[in-house]
Amino acid sequence: MVADYGVVWKQMMIPLSTSSPTEWPQVAPHQIAAFFASPDLGGRKDEICDIGRRLWQRGYVDGNGGNISVRVATDLVLCTPTLVSKGFMQPADICLVDMDGVQKAGVKKRTSEMLLHLEMYKAQPAAVACVHAHPPYATGFAVAGVSPPTCMVPEMEVFCGEVPVAPYGTPGSLEMSRAVAALVGQHNTVLMGNHGVVSWGQSVEDAYFKMEIVDAYCRIVLVARQVSSQPNVIPAPRLRELLTTKQTLGMPDARFGLSEGELDARSGWQPASASASDADTEALVRRITDEVVRALRR
Ligand SMILES: [Zn+2]
Repeated sequence: MVADYGVVWKQMMIPLSTSSPTEWPQVAPHQIAAFFASPDLGGRKDEICDIGRRLWQRGYVDGNGGNISVRVATDLVLCTPTLVSKGFMQPADICLVDMDGVQKAGVKKRTSEMLLHLEMYKAQPAAVACVHAHPPYATGFAVAGVSPPTCMVPEMEVFCGEVPVAPYGTPGSLEMSRAVAALVGQHNTVLMGNHGVVSWGQSVEDAYFKMEIVDAYCRIVLVARQVSSQPNVIPAPRLRELLTTKQTLGMPDARFGLSEGELDARSGWQPASASASDADTEALVRRITDEVVRALRR
């Protein structure tokens, strides 16, 4: 059973379109211009533009929002420019920066949210690409400060797993970037409080897939909760099969090694902030009812 899942998931995994982190080239300062103009980086620029179009077409980016990056050398990252719609970028718009965010090539100015990407690369050496966007359903959870409930759809468990909410920080700030980076060791997708979503992957398309999966999942969860107050969850033994598969695929998950009891305790719908507001509403209804009863007795 587990092996069958493994075959299915492996077929769904996209092949690495970039070299592994240990193979990143060292590029000397005098070689940067030629490297930036090379056919290899031309392909990466095309891929960034293609994913930008897909983000825009799916309504995940608004105005000039969202940004994409891909690590291409030990100290170099390609990224999207600022103040440009991600749906209409040209390869000539793409910028090259070093790991401190200093722009090294490109005619347009780099994204103002570059620090977020760079802190993620520093915290997670397996990250080859990062995608940040504002997909409406997942961003709704980020604004509510609610981590999506788990164990409702297998694809979500394998490709994203638990998705934490990082505390709000001013976009582009080091504080916000580090709050997100602190979570990427065990999570490939993070909700950014009152802001949006960021994901990392083995290629730009791989990181983008996480964005599609988490937003579709948040939408499904909302529908499931409208259809039933207690949607079914995948039981712990079945979840463990998915986690075993995930581990063999080399993907991170904070739940590896947990007992079935611990897995059960973490699954399902547990929105802490929503239950607090339910309690507030109940108290209010009780107060109004008491007032009405008192008025009728007078
Ligand atoms: Zn943003």
